[in-house]
Amino acid sequence: MTVVLDSRWPRERLARVGRDISFSWLTLNGLPVPDRVYFDRESANAARRVEDPRSKYMMAPTWLGVYQRTWSGGWSAVAIDVQSCHLEARQRPSGLKPFWQAPGSFMDFTPLGVFCHEVGHHVDYVLHPKAYSRQNGFQDVVDNEDEVSSVEHNVLESFAEAIRLFITNPDLLRQGRPDRYEYLTKGMGLKALHDQSWRTVLRNAGKRVVSAAEGWLAS
Ligand SMILES: [Zn+2]
Repeated sequence: MTVVLDSRWPRERLARVGRDISFSWLTLNGLPVPDRVYFDRESANAARRVEDPRSKYMMAPTWLGVYQRTWSGGWSAVAIDVQSCHLEARQRPSGLKPFWQAPGSFMDFTPLGVFCHEVGHHVDYVLHPKAYSRQNGFQDVVDNEDEVSSVEHNVLESFAEAIRLFITNPDLLRQGRPDRYEYLTKGMGLKALHDQSWRTVLRNAGKRVVSAAEGWLAS
């Protein structure tokens, strides 16, 4: 399978490609796909409200996505707000250093990256009802290796980010965060969707995205 991503795609296409590659990856690994997919906040929240009006999985206005676990409603969903997700750009979040992000890079808040991140949470809960990453030594990996990205507020987010990059650009994870890569491959037995070099995956990304990835690899 050839996966070359393109920052110039519109948001809707990035979301569809994120869904398609992550579902192909789940199937390759014998894992179930989520029961439902939502690409906007209103649909996701309306569906959840029917099942559980006080659900903690309602998507807040500032969120880019959410994984809604099977709970009282009996179904799981990956929900992202496509219009809120970012395109390839320099991000300047308050309190953080500015960074370049793009589909398939180490920082990826495009619809593609957000979708694959939520699939990471899905894997975590499909494998263990209280989160696989909390039970199986992933915290040790997180404690002893630099982050993939700036959104790793806890072990669950670190796991979702590792899965996200493993789906979209496994060679980048292998070279940049080898302990996470080893945990997923040797520890969990997960297979990568493709074996293309990270530069091939980012072939259509801007030069500044590539040099940011080079800096991240060297860090
Ligand atoms: Zn998350």
